Amino acid sequence: MPAEVLQQAAAEMLDWHGSGMSVMEMSHRGQEFGVILKNAEADLRELLCVPAHFRILFMQGGGLAENAIVPLNLSRGETVDFVVTGSWSQKSLKEARRYCAARVAASNEADHHTSLPAPASWQLDRGARYVHLCSNETINGVEVHELPDLKALGSDAPLVIDFSSHVASRPVDWSRVGLAFGGAQKNLGPAGLTLVVVREDLLGHALQACPSAFDYKTVADNHSMYNTPPTFAIYMAGLTFQWLKRQTEGGLSGVAAMEARNITKAQLLYDFIDQSAFYSNKVAKDCRSRMNVPFFLRDESRNEAFLAGAKAAGLLQLKGHKSVGGMRASLYNAMPIEGVRALVDYMRQFEQTQV
Ligand code: PMP
Repeated sequence: MPAEVLQQAAAEMLDWHGSGMSVMEMSHRGQEFGVILKNAEADLRELLCVPAHFRILFMQGGGLAENAIVPLNLSRGETVDFVVTGSWSQKSLKEARRYCAARVAASNEADHHTSLPAPASWQLDRGARYVHLCSNETINGVEVHELPDLKALGSDAPLVIDFSSHVASRPVDWSRVGLAFGGAQKNLGPAGLTLVVVREDLLGHALQACPSAFDYKTVADNHSMYNTPPTFAIYMAGLTFQWLKRQTEGGLSGVAAMEARNITKAQLLYDFIDQSAFYSNKVAKDCRSRMNVPFFLRDESRNEAFLAGAKAAGLLQLKGHKSVGGMRASLYNAMPIEGVRALVDYMRQFEQTQV
């Protein structure tokens, strides 16, 4: 979370804008929260340049719930295509198989999720109801830098992207997307809010078994208020959207500014890793994530010492995911360039003590 956003929330905690209430105490149907929700949606639409024929839904359940909610709404119980690029898309595939005939159109499993299968090699099914792609694999550190043009690949299916871990880190080409979903907790706000951006024509096809609260059409018709939305999380995300709108970088603003900053941050760390004989990153250069940078020490017996020294230097949460091992630096939007510089300085010092 950006410190400014946390400070603003702290200042408004007991009395939001003279209402005499904390946001947590407001009725979600009251006028005050209505303003918060409306502004959050409008700011997000502006930031991500979401076209008018897409609906923005504020839901709950996180990315994992969407793994079920997407097939419940879009699959019609028929065939869907998956591009497997890492742990999260693998999980999505497994969950979708409970509801429809989910098939693997492409996979990078053979190289341990360190590359991106070229779109031209994807074995797409012409009748597929959608194509699932995780546009940033948080655990494996694989990012799709250019969304595929499914039409050019001979498919009319809408592209569904799980953009949980890089939403708002770069612009989205909506002409190539049918639906995007993501938990808020990386780049948008606290956990508890799930963002869904869905093309209008995809609404209204949910399976009979789909819970009403998870039927996108019901959620859209009720402006994300079919049931009580995660009000405080929406408020915090709204403050983050305003913070994002204020960001500038080299003549750019908003998400474009974030993208420029994120490129610089990631480059700094990857360049350092690549020139070092002590650290390594195994992901192919054309699909390295700007948000999540997994890396390994040449001498893995030094892992604990590395983490202890990092902690002492104020560098936290660097332990890699248990399925991959090693280290992982997450450079989300709120991480300033100074944080990346501090990490690189520490890594350099640690390396020097190892020889
Ligand atoms: N997809 C991706 C890409 C993720 O990074 C995560 C969480 N790290 C999830 C799905 C699961 O999200 P949640 O924990 O919000 O269900």
